[in-house]
Amino acid sequence: MAINIEIDRFRFDDFSETGKHTIFLEISPAGSGEQIGIPLLIANGRQPGKTLVAFAAVHGDELEGVQAIQDVFRRLDTDGMTGRFIAVPVANVPAFRSVQRSSPIDSLNLARTFPGRKDGSVTERIAYYLSELIISQADFFIDLHSASASLMPTMAGYDASGTEAAKASKEAAFRTGMPVVWGHPDVGPGRTLCAAIMRGIPWLYVESPSGRRVSNVELPYYVSSLLNLLGHLKIIDREAPSFVPKLHLFGSGDVDRTQSVNVSGFFVQRVNLLDHVENGQLVGEVRDLFGEVLEEVRTMSSGIVAVLRSEALVSPGDPVCLVAELLSD
Ligand SMILES: [Zn+2]
Repeated sequence: MAINIEIDRFRFDDFSETGKHTIFLEISPAGSGEQIGIPLLIANGRQPGKTLVAFAAVHGDELEGVQAIQDVFRRLDTDGMTGRFIAVPVANVPAFRSVQRSSPIDSLNLARTFPGRKDGSVTERIAYYLSELIISQADFFIDLHSASASLMPTMAGYDASGTEAAKASKEAAFRTGMPVVWGHPDVGPGRTLCAAIMRGIPWLYVESPSGRRVSNVELPYYVSSLLNLLGHLKIIDREAPSFVPKLHLFGSGDVDRTQSVNVSGFFVQRVNLLDHVENGQLVGEVRDLFGEVLEEVRTMSSGIVAVLRSEALVSPGDPVCLVAELLSD
């Protein structure tokens, strides 16, 4: 049974015994009847070592990571562990309860809210505590997402910014076993990753083409990514060889900067995810009720289609496509 603790009273030092601890960190609700807080899982090994911090459901409709964290936490044998696994299976509880990307309370996207504010709205407060209290504990941080409105490959994204932490990030990405590995020279503002970057903590995130459900095709990649990372960090006894991914991509992964449409309508795809495309190639078209083409969307560079709109109905500003550079190594 999880114990409830008011979040400002919580200290990791009070839960440093070997074994597993499950805690609900209460953030006082802003007038709402439903309890708001952060579910926290701590698995302390018998020996001191590194700390892996993992989050899932930063977006409330991205669910593989939730199950993967729960499954991995359950199977860990803390007597054989060296270091800690600290995980938040559901980072944005209000969004998760309504199975939506952003919070139903303040409409904020938690993945655009970091580092948050202690005296802010509910989502800003969640971001603040996730950053200050939990990410700050990490020697390595991983954020488990899955794509809902867009298709994304089953992948690990790493830090290709050239810093010292970025080297550790890249090395770890190749040990996850994810079929696609994608290096990003920069990260958009407000992400969980920004809270790791500002502390010099290496990070990864993962994605897959899912959302609103747990895909049994994708779930094993999440579980093995977590276990491989725990092995790589020497927290558990597990071989973590370097895998050769199917594709190694490079470029901005900022979905806020993808090509978007200017009109409302019915989006018809003309390419598939992970297709190789030329500059100026037709990605898709927006049609009206009669099938007339209102807008064509074309690529602005050659490369690999790494993000593609999956929902058919679009409104002005909706992102539809992001092309990444293919690295041959
Ligand atoms: Zn997400």
